[in-house]
Amino acid sequence: MKAAILDNKKFIIGYVPKPMLDEYGTGAIIKVRGCGLCGSDIVKMQTGIAKDGAILGHEVVGEIVEINSKTNFEAGDKVALGHHVPCFNCQYCWSENYSMCRHFKKTNIVPGGFSEYIYVSEEHLLNTVFEVNLNLSDVEASFLEPLGCCIRAVKRARIKDNSKSLVIGLGSIGILMGESIKAFGNEVYGCDLIYERVCRAEKFGFDKAFMLKDEASTLADMKSITNIGFDNIFLTAGASGSIDFAVKAARDGANIIVFSSIKNDNGFLNNDIYYRELNIMGSYSPSPMDLEDSMRLIESGKVKVAGISSVYPIEGINDALNDTLSNKIMKAYITL
Ligand SMILES: [Zn+2]
Ligand SMILES: [Zn+2]
Repeated sequence: MKAAILDNKKFIIGYVPKPMLDEYGTGAIIKVRGCGLCGSDIVKMQTGIAKDGAILGHEVVGEIVEINSKTNFEAGDKVALGHHVPCFNCQYCWSENYSMCRHFKKTNIVPGGFSEYIYVSEEHLLNTVFEVNLNLSDVEASFLEPLGCCIRAVKRARIKDNSKSLVIGLGSIGILMGESIKAFGNEVYGCDLIYERVCRAEKFGFDKAFMLKDEASTLADMKSITNIGFDNIFLTAGASGSIDFAVKAARDGANIIVFSSIKNDNGFLNNDIYYRELNIMGSYSPSPMDLEDSMRLIESGKVKVAGISSVYPIEGINDALNDTLSNKIMKAYITL
């Protein structure tokens, strides 16, 4: 079957063996209709976490073509899915750190979303595979997983009523984060270095978005919203300067939710955390419950995901990568 195979920080289109249900016994084979290109795929490529030969992609929408399962799914069902499944029965899971569960980290789809077919296990079918409502487009359904990640972050922040949240970085994830915060009924503000992104954020429901010029003048502009600083800061930008800005834009006692990989050797300072009682927390990957909430919010239209992705055929996946890196597009969706 055709697949986009990782090769020296690029993709090459090649052929790999199709996964066979017989090999596994239970589970399902899904014919991939399309798959979103995630920022984490790009990080894995650029840092070498993913090795040459790997097949990336996890924001999959597809059709079940073969199945042996106790679930109600059947061949012909259109589905979207999450790729990791927690065990629900370990110290991490009991503490609701589902994405830290060692079983969660081990489970995955085979071989990856940028291929014509994938295998998903029975466990996936039971927990992280969702039937797609027929009135949703493939591209909309592909947001199940990335939106689930954002919903998890919003839940972890335990946003209080009447609080003000700031999303730093208004790429596709920043937009989804803002929409999630709104969907939970809270005010949300945003900032970014790129003018088009700032304008776009307000179209996606942000109460206001700020152009990040120099730090001091942006912070001064933000005084019109809050004098003491934001209650919650969601850090979705990968630039190292955003850490410093997050600390300055936060009120004393604020939550800072770290939601991006940042190449940085001088992270949060101990004394900012101590004297200002800052809560710095990470949020990584969604639990099955977050995926369920995500599907509900996409289906109900409470979170709008249309208009975020640009569509590329698998043969154009390197263009999709380059256009994402050069900020020509917000996010790419790759069709198989
Ligand atoms: Zn993703
Ligand atoms: Zn577990």
